[in-house]
Amino acid sequence: MNYSDVIIIGGGASGSFCALFASKNQKITIIDNQNKIAKKILVTGNGRCNLTNKTISYENYNQNIQPYLNKFNANQTLDFFKSIGLETYFDEQGRVYPLSNSAKSVQEVLQNQIEKRNIDVKLETEVTNITKNEDNFILETTKGIFSCKKLVVATGGNSMLKTLKNLNINYKTFSPSLVSLKTKISKNLANVKLSNVKVTATNTFGQSKSDFGEVLFKESGLSGICIFNLSTIYSRVKNFKGLISIDLLPNLSYEEVYNLLFQRRQLKININRFFDGLFVREIGYEILNRIKIDENRSSMALSSNELHYFTKQIKNLQFDVVDCYQNNQVFSGGVNLEDLTLNLESKKNKNLFFCGEICDVDGICGGYNLQWAWTSGKIVGEAL
Ligand SMILES: Cc1cc2nc3c(=O)[nH]c(=O)nc-3n(C[C@H](O)[C@H](O)[C@H](O)COP(=O)(O)OP(=O)(O)OC[C@H]3O[C@@H](n4cnc5c(N)ncnc54)[C@H](O)[C@@H]3O)c2cc1C
Repeated sequence: MNYSDVIIIGGGASGSFCALFASKNQKITIIDNQNKIAKKILVTGNGRCNLTNKTISYENYNQNIQPYLNKFNANQTLDFFKSIGLETYFDEQGRVYPLSNSAKSVQEVLQNQIEKRNIDVKLETEVTNITKNEDNFILETTKGIFSCKKLVVATGGNSMLKTLKNLNINYKTFSPSLVSLKTKISKNLANVKLSNVKVTATNTFGQSKSDFGEVLFKESGLSGICIFNLSTIYSRVKNFKGLISIDLLPNLSYEEVYNLLFQRRQLKININRFFDGLFVREIGYEILNRIKIDENRSSMALSSNELHYFTKQIKNLQFDVVDCYQNNQVFSGGVNLEDLTLNLESKKNKNLFFCGEICDVDGICGGYNLQWAWTSGKIVGEAL
């Protein structure tokens, strides 16, 4: 049997950070089922890794994680990354990326430090079961039995939960979050992209949330950062049903849109071309298709009722949400923070720690989820 003082299951963002902050006077082993440390980081931020945000605030998470951010915030994270050689920059929305614009740089500096500190790493090894005897945790893996005094579970989303039941750990079931939404949609909208729109999502519990930005129409749904962020309103109630409403001209009031359309009558153009120049044609057709209207007339013939109808659609173009896709960036749910100490140690099960996405913490897009991974990893590492 392989014995270590500390075993960290999962060498992702949080697990590798945890290992780097743990005291060197103990044998630490990371067990990960992938073939390299922090492999998932390579796909983050579209391959650029948006590692944190200059304006991290607890309000952009599902719960108040300020006590943890007080222990290790975004600036401290960046200082640490700088100290291990990672150069970064931030964009106008405060999103921080490696200067190389490649997620590989983040993975590489983490791997360098794990190697430099001689941390024992067992790759391509899956932990299949955990039990505990009086003194130690016993881990069954695809490459034999391991044991340790202190155990850190840093396995990310949707993993290991059943095993945790053996250890008396409570958790909320996971549901996909930061995800594209399946909606009823007409086929010709596929691949259309909207910018500078206001989007409001409402779930079946009547809760709603708005965001500004881009929306991308897919074959049978909606995507884009705005939609990802709003998807949390469905994932947190574990029910992907409700309504998305898009305000196509959020900077104009209802009256201003009506007046604009009234003036555009003067274009004296066929009604099926009436929206050309204001929106891409597919959006114009979408608005026209939602009403039975004789399109073979001149715009001059548009009635006040018809202009009001158009205005309503422009200010509130609705889509029924029926489900989500499987391209989620994170999972909502996980181990309840109330069952953990401020050091993220189980209150019931001494020497058992959790960090990263396996905890019931999820944030919006923009570096928030990796910041939780760094923050929680550091806290656990120092507590070991
Ligand atoms: C496509 C995509 C893009 C993203 N982009 C961003 C972004 O730009 N910014 C941002 O802040 N967040 C982003 N995220 C979210 C971010 O990647 C996660 O929040 C973060 O990786 C969570 O870190 P973690 O350490 O908890 O889990 P992970 O990084 O998932 O690491 C967990 C590790 O544990 C291993 N593991 C799991 N189960 C076992 C087991 N039984 N035995 C052994 N090993 C196991 C896994 O293989 C994995 O290596 C993105 C996510 C995705 C999917």
